[in-house]
Amino acid sequence: MKVTTESRLNHLMDQLVLLSSVRERDALLRQLTQSLSESVNCERVDVYGLVLDENRHFWLHLTQAVAGEGVRVVTDPVHADTTNMKAIGEEPERQRCVDQSAVVTSAPQADETHFVTRLPIMLSNGTFPWGVVEIRSAQAFGSIDSGAATRLIAMYANILEMLDYSECDALTGLWNRKSFDDLFYKAISPVDAHDDAETAPLVEKRAPSTSPKFWLAMVDIDHFKQVNDNFGHLIGDEVLLLVAQLLEGSFRAHDRVYRFGGEEFIVVLRCDNHEAAAAALERFRLRMEANDFPQAGRITASVGFTEITATDSPNVACERADKAVYYAKRNGRNQVCSEADLVQRGLLTTEVIVGDMELF
Ligand code: GH3
Ligand code: MG
Ligand code: MG
Repeated sequence: MKVTTESRLNHLMDQLVLLSSVRERDALLRQLTQSLSESVNCERVDVYGLVLDENRHFWLHLTQAVAGEGVRVVTDPVHADTTNMKAIGEEPERQRCVDQSAVVTSAPQADETHFVTRLPIMLSNGTFPWGVVEIRSAQAFGSIDSGAATRLIAMYANILEMLDYSECDALTGLWNRKSFDDLFYKAISPVDAHDDAETAPLVEKRAPSTSPKFWLAMVDIDHFKQVNDNFGHLIGDEVLLLVAQLLEGSFRAHDRVYRFGGEEFIVVLRCDNHEAAAAALERFRLRMEANDFPQAGRITASVGFTEITATDSPNVACERADKAVYYAKRNGRNQVCSEADLVQRGLLTTEVIVGDMELF
């Protein structure tokens, strides 16, 4: 008995060491899923993340591990098909788990044979629960299993917070500029390109995607210096935080919002066509224009956007979007300008500024 307890303890410690050695968030989630399936008596482990899509929360099925098999990445958030996602309230047991921030176990239902134990994933720096782990087992979850799973998830949350610290902007919580460069290629690469050699055998092969189109939008707050000058830096900071929230609430779960620096933000959108990208950005612009900011009142933003091409580097795509922002600024602000439209109308040239060349 002593040996069993000792070997279980060592096994759990090994899993914690393994988890703590991972420095990349996708690999970290795969490791958590794997560690859970190897550390508790279960048939299956599923991890669901909560994602924001146009201001509503949805469940995104991220990973799965079946006992004795490897981990399967079910959905990569960047490529999520939001039409198939369930709203938070459509899974009441999962919602209860995050609302109560507690482990919730349900006995086998009707024709099922397994128990389902749900454990919340909470980050201390987040305003909303991160997600839920669902574990299916033939027996009711014992305290040893529950303790092991809870500790693995707590370790995962701690490491994730450390990654957030280096990849997210401290004021707004948005992705920072460093992570923009890192994620740019991932965001625009075809789904299968993510299956590196290490994970390839474990990753579900998905149907070939219909090469989605990506758009890069640069958002620059209008006359922001005046906000600081008139109301002080603290109110300025509050405006930046509220604009970040407006941005996050305006786009889809698979779109990504970055704080690029100062009062400039970048959105990488996945849209079917130019009109859809323009419409999404215009929706945000209108929301911003209509928003009554505490003390500062009405504040607007200028937006420039461009389609990301297969050969773009982050710098080249940003420069095109930036030219469109520049045009918007010089022509009245508070508007969304398409770089392609401006070029077509002869209002911008396509020549790329030398700045994107690496000069040493
Ligand atoms: P425009 O409409 O042409 O964009 O004018 P603007 O005033 O928004 O642009 P400008 O580049 O002249 O000023 C940007 C201001 O943003 C200046 C800077 O002090 C302020 N700023 C940059 N980062 C921060 C920050 O983190 N907090 C606060 N409060 N202000 C910031
Ligand atoms: Mg600016
Ligand atoms: Mg500005």
